[in-house]
Amino acid sequence: MHELAITQGILSVVLEAAEAAGARRVRTIDLTVGTLTGYVDESIRFYFDLLSRGTPAEGAVLRIRREPGEGHCQTCEARFPVEPPVIPTCPFCGSPQIRITGGTRCVVERIEVEHGDEHSGCEGNPPGQ
Ligand SMILES: [Zn+2]
Repeated sequence: MHELAITQGILSVVLEAAEAAGARRVRTIDLTVGTLTGYVDESIRFYFDLLSRGTPAEGAVLRIRREPGEGHCQTCEARFPVEPPVIPTCPFCGSPQIRITGGTRCVVERIEVEHGDEHSGCEGNPPGQ
Protein backbone atom coordinates (compact mmCIF):
# COMPACT_ATOMS: atom_id res chain seq x y z
CA MET A 1 0.00 0.00 0.00
CA HIS A 2 2.91 2.41 0.51
CA GLU A 3 3.19 2.75 -3.26
CA LEU A 4 0.26 5.17 -3.02
CA ALA A 5 2.28 7.70 -1.02
CA ILE A 6 5.40 7.32 -3.12
CA THR A 7 3.41 7.66 -6.33
CA GLN A 8 1.83 10.86 -5.03
CA GLY A 9 5.35 12.12 -4.40
CA ILE A 10 6.49 11.12 -7.88
CA LEU A 11 3.50 12.79 -9.50
CA SER A 12 3.98 16.05 -7.65
CA VAL A 13 7.65 16.17 -8.67
CA VAL A 14 6.67 15.48 -12.27
CA LEU A 15 3.90 18.07 -12.33
CA GLU A 16 6.13 20.70 -10.77
CA ALA A 17 8.85 20.04 -13.33
CA ALA A 18 6.31 20.09 -16.16
CA GLU A 19 4.91 23.39 -14.99
CA ALA A 20 8.37 24.89 -14.61
CA ALA A 21 9.11 23.84 -18.19
CA GLY A 22 5.86 25.33 -19.44
CA ALA A 23 4.77 21.92 -20.64
CA ARG A 24 1.32 21.10 -21.87
CA ARG A 25 1.67 17.39 -21.49
CA VAL A 26 4.11 14.90 -19.99
CA ARG A 27 5.14 12.25 -22.47
CA THR A 28 7.51 9.95 -20.60
CA ILE A 29 8.85 9.66 -17.08
CA ASP A 30 12.07 7.86 -16.23
CA LEU A 31 12.06 6.50 -12.75
CA THR A 32 14.75 4.73 -10.80
CA VAL A 33 13.41 2.43 -8.14
CA GLY A 34 15.78 0.57 -5.83
CA THR A 35 15.09 -3.10 -5.26
CA LEU A 36 15.33 -2.54 -1.50
CA THR A 37 12.46 -0.05 -1.48
CA GLY A 38 10.02 -2.93 -1.73
CA TYR A 39 7.97 -0.98 -4.24
CA VAL A 40 6.25 -3.03 -6.88
CA ASP A 41 6.37 -1.61 -10.41
CA GLU A 42 2.84 -2.65 -11.17
CA SER A 43 1.49 -0.89 -8.09
CA ILE A 44 3.33 2.29 -8.97
CA ARG A 45 1.87 2.13 -12.48
CA PHE A 46 -1.58 1.44 -11.13
CA TYR A 47 -1.56 4.39 -8.74
CA PHE A 48 0.07 6.60 -11.31
CA ASP A 49 -2.72 5.97 -13.80
CA LEU A 50 -5.25 6.70 -11.10
CA LEU A 51 -3.65 9.84 -9.68
CA SER A 52 -2.55 11.40 -12.95
CA ARG A 53 -6.06 11.53 -14.42
CA GLY A 54 -7.00 15.04 -15.34
CA THR A 55 -3.40 16.29 -14.95
CA PRO A 56 -0.83 17.03 -17.69
CA ALA A 57 0.81 13.74 -16.73
CA GLU A 58 -2.21 11.67 -17.70
CA GLY A 59 -1.26 8.98 -20.21
CA ALA A 60 2.47 9.49 -19.70
CA VAL A 61 4.67 6.44 -20.19
CA LEU A 62 6.40 5.33 -17.02
CA ARG A 63 9.81 3.81 -17.61
CA ILE A 64 10.99 2.12 -14.46
CA ARG A 65 14.63 1.21 -14.03
CA ARG A 66 15.49 -1.11 -11.17
CA GLU A 67 18.52 -0.22 -9.13
CA PRO A 68 20.13 -3.22 -7.45
CA GLY A 69 20.78 -3.17 -3.73
CA GLU A 70 24.37 -2.74 -2.64
CA GLY A 71 26.11 -2.82 0.71
CA HIS A 72 29.49 -1.61 1.86
CA CYS A 73 31.28 -3.09 4.84
CA GLN A 74 32.98 -0.50 7.04
CA THR A 75 35.21 -3.14 8.58
CA CYS A 76 36.68 -4.99 5.58
CA GLU A 77 35.68 -2.50 2.85
CA ALA A 78 33.92 -5.17 0.83
CA ARG A 79 31.12 -4.23 -1.50
CA PHE A 80 28.40 -6.76 -2.06
CA PRO A 81 24.95 -7.09 -3.56
CA VAL A 82 22.09 -6.86 -1.12
CA GLU A 83 18.72 -8.39 -1.68
CA PRO A 84 15.65 -8.18 0.44
CA PRO A 85 15.25 -9.22 3.17
CA VAL A 86 18.35 -7.30 4.21
CA ILE A 87 20.66 -9.19 6.54
CA PRO A 88 22.57 -6.48 8.38
CA THR A 89 25.96 -8.22 8.51
CA CYS A 90 28.84 -8.42 6.07
CA PRO A 91 28.80 -11.68 4.06
CA PHE A 92 32.61 -11.69 4.05
CA CYS A 93 33.69 -10.90 7.60
CA GLY A 94 30.41 -11.00 9.50
CA SER A 95 30.76 -7.44 10.73
CA PRO A 96 27.53 -5.63 11.57
CA GLN A 97 29.15 -2.35 10.49
CA ILE A 98 27.64 -2.18 7.07
CA ARG A 99 26.14 0.61 5.13
CA ILE A 100 23.51 0.21 2.43
CA THR A 101 24.86 2.21 -0.50
CA GLY A 102 22.40 1.37 -3.26
CA GLY A 103 18.91 0.19 -3.94
CA THR A 104 16.99 2.39 -1.51
CA ARG A 105 16.22 5.27 -3.83
CA CYS A 106 13.04 6.05 -5.66
CA VAL A 107 13.67 9.07 -7.85
CA VAL A 108 12.43 10.74 -10.98
CA GLU A 109 15.49 10.81 -13.26
CA ARG A 110 14.00 12.78 -16.09
CA ILE A 111 10.78 13.62 -17.82
CA GLU A 112 9.97 14.33 -21.42
CA VAL A 113 7.32 16.90 -22.07
CA GLU A 114 5.33 18.38 -24.91
CA HIS A 115 5.06 22.10 -25.13
CA GLY A 116 1.85 23.93 -25.82
CA ASP A 117 1.28 25.90 -29.01
CA GLU A 118 3.18 29.15 -29.01
CA HIS A 119 0.13 31.17 -29.99
CA SER A 120 -2.13 29.81 -27.30
CA GLY A 121 -0.41 31.70 -24.52
CA CYS A 122 -1.91 35.02 -23.52
CA GLU A 123 -0.52 35.05 -20.04
CA GLY A 124 1.00 38.50 -20.11
CA ASN A 125 4.65 39.12 -19.47
CA PRO A 126 7.13 36.32 -19.01
CA PRO A 127 8.37 35.97 -15.43
CA GLY A 128 10.96 38.57 -14.52
CA GLN A 129 14.68 38.01 -13.99
ZN1 LIG B 1 33.22 -7.10 6.01
